[in-house]
Amino acid sequence: MYFTFFGLVGALSISNYVLIGFVLTFLTIVSVTLYLHRSKAHGGVDFNPAVEHFFRFWLWLTTGMKTCEWVAVHRRHHAKCESTYDPHSPIQKGLWRILLLGWLEYNRSAKNPETLAYVEGLKSNGLPKDWMETKIYSRYKWLGICLLLLTEVLLFGFAGLAIWLVQMAWIPFWAAGVINGIGHFFGYRNADTPDNSRNIIPWGILIGGEELHNNHHLYPTSAKFSQRWFEVDIGWGIIRFLAFLKLAQIKRVSSFPVHNEVWERKSDEFSGFLSITAG
Ligand SMILES: [Zn+2]
Ligand SMILES: [Zn+2]
Repeated sequence: MYFTFFGLVGALSISNYVLIGFVLTFLTIVSVTLYLHRSKAHGGVDFNPAVEHFFRFWLWLTTGMKTCEWVAVHRRHHAKCESTYDPHSPIQKGLWRILLLGWLEYNRSAKNPETLAYVEGLKSNGLPKDWMETKIYSRYKWLGICLLLLTEVLLFGFAGLAIWLVQMAWIPFWAAGVINGIGHFFGYRNADTPDNSRNIIPWGILIGGEELHNNHHLYPTSAKFSQRWFEVDIGWGIIRFLAFLKLAQIKRVSSFPVHNEVWERKSDEFSGFLSITAG
């Protein structure tokens, strides 16, 4: 009976369960923003193969999302931003729909051949195509989530089930909902980008730095999202730490010109981005 309720780890305090849940979900957020977004979709940073594979494994285990689908949907978002072809524009589809059902819009777009064209041919360079990707991660995308459920119930009993449910809702809500919805609706703008992107709050911690969405739309290929002295991008801090350990190679960093009232774009960064999204 004791085992059934608390699993192999035994009973823990509520605060410990909350801490475990937070660490696990934060790891998933980090995998999304560092690996899927800054590295694979935009090429701002490269990771050591072992680190990269850890991100892939963790995303398979906790989200079931396929790298090429995520990258395709996201590149289409940048290329067609706020138009009827944007996979998840709150301007087109309404804020509440994206906030609560953004994951549904993501799933729908990920199956669309027009979206998948963004990762075809040369545009797929750098995306994983190895045996694990084709035979396991892509073919059995639900297996990872099921293994996670089994492991957590075994370790933590009913609390493990609760932690798993929170994990399942975390990315659909915070990434597909809050970033794609609120990040294009409410917040401040540092730059007059040709879309409705916003910096939700200046401290990008809970969602790994993705809160600084207007900065990101100004410099899509930059590995660093913070721009002003009071802005915090925890994802950038983790990248710097991994680079210090020689586990990451920073490819592009963009920043506003100091002492310049007009935020300028650096044309070389946009030419790099457009070459992979064109078409
Ligand atoms: Zn956006
Ligand atoms: Zn992006």
